[in-house]
Amino acid sequence: MTTSRGPRRALIAGNWKMNPASREEAVGLANTVVRAVEDLEATTVLCPPTMWLVPVASAIDGRVGVGAQTMAAEEAGAFTGETSPLMLRGIADWVILGHSERRHYNGETDETVRRKVVSAVDHGLRPILAIGERLEERKAGATEAVIDRQLRIGLTDIRRIAGSGLVIAYEPVWAIGTGNAATGDDAQGAAAQIRGILRELDADGANEIPILYGGSVTPDNAREFFAQPEIDGALVGGASLDATAFGRIVARAAELRG
Ligand code: PEP
Repeated sequence: MTTSRGPRRALIAGNWKMNPASREEAVGLANTVVRAVEDLEATTVLCPPTMWLVPVASAIDGRVGVGAQTMAAEEAGAFTGETSPLMLRGIADWVILGHSERRHYNGETDETVRRKVVSAVDHGLRPILAIGERLEERKAGATEAVIDRQLRIGLTDIRRIAGSGLVIAYEPVWAIGTGNAATGDDAQGAAAQIRGILRELDADGANEIPILYGGSVTPDNAREFFAQPEIDGALVGGASLDATAFGRIVARAAELRG
C-alpha cells in the first residue's frame, strides 16, 4: 500500500516476552488477536515465546504474521538452548533482534546483534532490530550517540538495505515496561535520526524501512506516536498480552497509517 508517507504500511508487533505460561493460553490469545485485527489495514506480527511458536503459527495459519523473540546467528551446532534461523523457517517470518532485555540479561553486544541481523536477512527472515538508550545514557546526553552506534554496528554486514526486509524499533530502555512512554516529539526525533542514517547507508532503500516506536505503548497514547511522520508503527510488550488493548493499538495504526 502507498500512503502519503511513502510505501510503508502500518506495522504493529506484539512481544509477548516469557508469557503466557501454557500452550492453551497462547493459542487462545493468538486467536482472539486475529479476530480483533484481521480486517484492519495494518500488518500485525505476534512474537510468542519459542515454545509457543509452532502452536501459535498453526492456529493463526497466516492470518497475521509470526515472529521469534530472538535467534542464534549460527545454523546448527553446540549452542545449548538456542534456536537457529533454519529451525524458524516455515514457522516465523520475523525475528526481534537486539531487544534490550537480551542485551542486558543475556549479554548480547552490538557485535552479537550485528551477526544475528545479517544471519536473519540471509535466511529470509525479517529482522526487527531494537535499539535505544538507557536512562543513564539519556541523562548523560548520549541518546544520539547510542542510537548511532547500535544502528551502524547492527547493519554493518547488510549489503543492501533495499529488499532486506529490515525493520528498526526505537525502544528507549527507560520506557520499556515502566508506564513512562517517550513523548511523540522525542520518538519522532529518534526516528528522524534513524531515517537519516539509513539514507546515508542506502539513499534508495531507506524509505522502505518501517521504523517503530516501543516503550509503554497503550491504546491511549498510540495516536501520539502514529501521528509522527517517521513512525510507522509500534513494538508493543505489556499491552500485547491483552487482545482488546492490542487490537485497539492496531486499529489506531490502521486509522492513521493504513
Ligand atoms: C518491549 O518489550 O519491547 C516493550 C516495548 O514493552 P512495553 O510495551 O511493555 O513497554
